[in-house]
Amino acid sequence: MQDIHQKLHKWYSINGRKELPWRNSEDPYHIYLSEIMLQQTQVKTVLERYYFPFLKKFPTLKSLANASLDEVLKSWEGLGYYTRAKNLHKCAQLTAPKLPKSYESLLALPGIGKNTASAICAFAYKQKRAVMEANVRRILCRIHALDDPSSDLLIEYAEALLDEENPYDYNQAMMDIGSMVCTVKNPQCEICPFLSMCQAHELACYDFPLKKKKSIPLKHENIVVELCEGRVKLIQREGRFLHGLWGFSASENPRGTKIGEVRHQYTHFKLEVSVYLKSVSAHKEGEAFSKDEIETLALSTVDKKILKLLTSHL
Ligand code: SF4
Repeated sequence: MQDIHQKLHKWYSINGRKELPWRNSEDPYHIYLSEIMLQQTQVKTVLERYYFPFLKKFPTLKSLANASLDEVLKSWEGLGYYTRAKNLHKCAQLTAPKLPKSYESLLALPGIGKNTASAICAFAYKQKRAVMEANVRRILCRIHALDDPSSDLLIEYAEALLDEENPYDYNQAMMDIGSMVCTVKNPQCEICPFLSMCQAHELACYDFPLKKKKSIPLKHENIVVELCEGRVKLIQREGRFLHGLWGFSASENPRGTKIGEVRHQYTHFKLEVSVYLKSVSAHKEGEAFSKDEIETLALSTVDKKILKLLTSHL
């Protein structure tokens, strides 16, 4: 094991993405934020559009706790998976000014699962914990030729491989190798520190873990936009999906003039929306907004697409 740890350490010291801002921060809140943002989202998107503006607006856990959910969702707008933002806000309210240090206490917080708790312990508090995320999972599955391992088995393999002398660099190296070398397509085995011990490479078969083919259902919705003197009716969503975001309401029996369609793909389904425009003589107070007012509200990507379609009518 010492040999592979030396190889990993050498690889990381030459190739590791040590410049990533959350790797240069000692602040557990910054590290926690990066872990949450990076779930389901690429490093490039987080780095270029979300991480710095979010921290500028909410520089501490306490400032996040004191903000309104609307403000937090506005800063999350476009990043998707809005439950992450709601849980982040809730966690801040439960723990500010400091996140707890123990794995168990972190795990008890909303939106913090085993992987995130391990990552916070490993990166923020330098504890001896093996981080498990999609890239690390792929490496372990390929090294051991695992088709569909249970999460317990993967953790067992990850802990057996962990460099207890230098867990921080070990975990960062694993994540970087997964995203830069042991990529989903065309892994670069010849430069990989695991080359001599990798079963996938020996088999010349890289389909580990096995991909389950999912068919993505298509859903259709009708949206009726009610317009009065340039002001548009919006609702603030209450259900679990997109909770807290503002948007247009769906209708089973649309009335008005059809002005177009918008499409969007979520992880589990595709959505096709027919958009209708209906002029009304008045809106109830507080339910309709001008174009400038809408700019200050947090809208989902689909609702933003509908808004774009409406531009010529406002
Ligand atoms: S040797 Fe190839 S398949 Fe195996 S872990 Fe390295 S890059 Fe991935």
